[in-house]
Amino acid sequence: MTGHEQLLQAIEARRDELTELTRDLVKIPTTNPPGEYYEDCARYIGERLGKRSFEVKYFRAEGTPGDTDQYPRVNVIARHENSRPGPCVHFNSHIDVVEPGLGWQYDPFAAEVVGNRIYGRGTCDMKGGLAASIIAVECLIENYPELAGSLEISGTADEETGGYGGVAYLAQHGILSAARIDHVIIPEPLNKDRVCLGHRGVWWAEIETHGRMAHGSMPFLGDSAIRHMSAVLEQFERQLYPMLQSKTTAMPVVPDGAKQSTMNINSLHGGLQEGFAGLPSPLVADSCRMIIDRRFLIEEDIAAVKQEVHDILESLKRTRPLFDYKLRDLFEVIPTMTDSNAAVVREVASAIETVLGKPAEMVVSPGTYDQKHFNRIGLMKNCIAYGPGILDLAHQPDEYVDIDDMLDSAKVMALSAYRLLQPD
Ligand SMILES: [Zn+2]
Repeated sequence: MTGHEQLLQAIEARRDELTELTRDLVKIPTTNPPGEYYEDCARYIGERLGKRSFEVKYFRAEGTPGDTDQYPRVNVIARHENSRPGPCVHFNSHIDVVEPGLGWQYDPFAAEVVGNRIYGRGTCDMKGGLAASIIAVECLIENYPELAGSLEISGTADEETGGYGGVAYLAQHGILSAARIDHVIIPEPLNKDRVCLGHRGVWWAEIETHGRMAHGSMPFLGDSAIRHMSAVLEQFERQLYPMLQSKTTAMPVVPDGAKQSTMNINSLHGGLQEGFAGLPSPLVADSCRMIIDRRFLIEEDIAAVKQEVHDILESLKRTRPLFDYKLRDLFEVIPTMTDSNAAVVREVASAIETVLGKPAEMVVSPGTYDQKHFNRIGLMKNCIAYGPGILDLAHQPDEYVDIDDMLDSAKVMALSAYRLLQPD
């Protein structure tokens, strides 16, 4: 039996353990917001790995958004030193899940096993991936004491709300840093046969149009902010959307619809404040606000992305009497894509081929995840997402993870780390 067959069999033999570990993690309802039970989940991971020769450290991200004594942002990092010096392979998973919402056939936090699937909030995104990485690393340590370097597992907070109390905080404080970590694998659910190299960029902004209030029976005495906004929307339809459609990318973004620039209108409010009861009073709206969510490509410059919207608003100022607006930045993330020749990419791709018997697909995610913080704050360029689960199931009712997919991913993770940690 060759070295890697032995490793794959050792993981196969842990199928039940992997299932139970995933179920235990899902049963801790780490709903974010508000960020519940982070400490319980971090301690569960830390106590398990602490019993297995890992050095375990906890970090509370004090002062980050949402951090209170009731909802502390607790992160855990567990490190195992192998018998000789060498690089560090780090597996990072977020421990938070989005709220279950409605429409479930299963109890979202019971982690029920039905056939080959575990159902529950966070099974797919991403406690199944976290469990797979833990089993992979434990198997490596038990079976290959001669490996070089070190292995790390982290469970981090708040990814679903931007990662400020999780990876961003740890990178800002030099805890997740290129000085200590060489290769990063984030087991987000991108499918077991895909290596995710990075993600598109994001720009959120609020556009507000201004008007002048008047009685609704005499709108000619006022100036409607809502009609001004409709002129903005018309220009978006005429000019901006066709332009976005024409921008394509060399990034292998999935699904196909995201291989171009896109923009969603997240919300639109005009006139009387939301939440009133009864009939609205007849008023000409003096304000209308819209939040746009522009996703951009690695070929685009964020300044140019902003300029396109700015130019449309300025042109309306010239053509529309009384048009006045405010444009406010809310949030931005620069696109990131790891070099496909990086060792972590090559080894994970080759392990996929060994385990699944087919070539790996290289993809880029339409939305962002914690890779942005590893990359931009931690300056760690050798970072990918690889993990079990179907991306489309994330955040949906009746989310599940397939147990065979978790096992296959655990094998790929173990085999790629094994190859990255070979002594010279
Ligand atoms: Zn996720």
